[in-house]
Amino acid sequence: KGERLRLPPWLKTEIPIGKNYNKLKNTLRDLKLHTVCEEARCPNIGECWGGGETATATATIMLMGDTCTRGCRFCSVKTARQPPPLDPDEPYNTAKAISAWGLDYVVLTSVDRDDLADGGAEHFAKTVTYLKKRSPNILVECLTPDFRGDLSAVEKVALSGLDVYAHNVETVKELQRYVRDPRANFDQSLTVLRHVKSIKPSILTKTSIMLGLGETEAQIHSTLKELRDSHVDCLTLGQYMQPTKRHLKVEEYVTPEMFAYWEKVGQEMGFVYTASGPLVRSSYKAGEFFLKNLLK
Ligand code: SF4
Ligand code: SF4
Repeated sequence: KGERLRLPPWLKTEIPIGKNYNKLKNTLRDLKLHTVCEEARCPNIGECWGGGETATATATIMLMGDTCTRGCRFCSVKTARQPPPLDPDEPYNTAKAISAWGLDYVVLTSVDRDDLADGGAEHFAKTVTYLKKRSPNILVECLTPDFRGDLSAVEKVALSGLDVYAHNVETVKELQRYVRDPRANFDQSLTVLRHVKSIKPSILTKTSIMLGLGETEAQIHSTLKELRDSHVDCLTLGQYMQPTKRHLKVEEYVTPEMFAYWEKVGQEMGFVYTASGPLVRSSYKAGEFFLKNLLK
């Protein structure tokens, strides 16, 4: 132990840039949107914003500030017990900016706000409602916190008019305590996803797992099985990358062949959509898939 693993060649490849990329990049400046795509320097930005073959532009927008009340060991977002208060105008202004920007599919996400009574659920819901009013054709995914398992908060978001409800379990069941903040856990996350599907079955539920944290194949298998048994519709699997030296080390660079294997396993288990690859992120080209296959 101690030695850091070398970056394998498949993580060094250039990702193509689609044709909408420059247009979106140029119009973003005046809109005051905080995109995870830019702030996390996501390697997929050229493809997501550019829209790939189908020219379906996807981006991920951050709500409720840049400071989280939790501290997961894989995540580089800054932490505070009491982040600055919410901007009450953010839902309206964000919705306005997104509709002006010209996306086909948007992911709204946030830090965890355990300091707020409803965890920010109302704030999410308002943003979706305003956005759908302005742009009824845009597809909206919310990638949400667990709201500490508060199902009334979950319902607020689920019934706001969104199309896809995403909440990430992040890792296999056995590594939850090691990887996520102790306030998060597998069963709580699963309860959230199950509840969404039970109150509105037409919503697609979605979750994401990082590989390379030391999980075994058997653990991945049983985690996927539990997710599917809870009616989770969509699954993404990607390589964990260590954001700084203070974060959890990469235990393994999972090969592209193994990622392809997990994609096949996901399909066979009956997920409607499984995206699995070293550079796949939760929202990777989400629009392309959903517009083409599910929601049209
Ligand atoms: Fe943005 Fe997500 Fe695509 Fe990365 S994968 S560019 S964060 S939408
Ligand atoms: Fe990062 Fe989310 Fe964990 Fe907060 S709750 S530290 S934003 S992964």
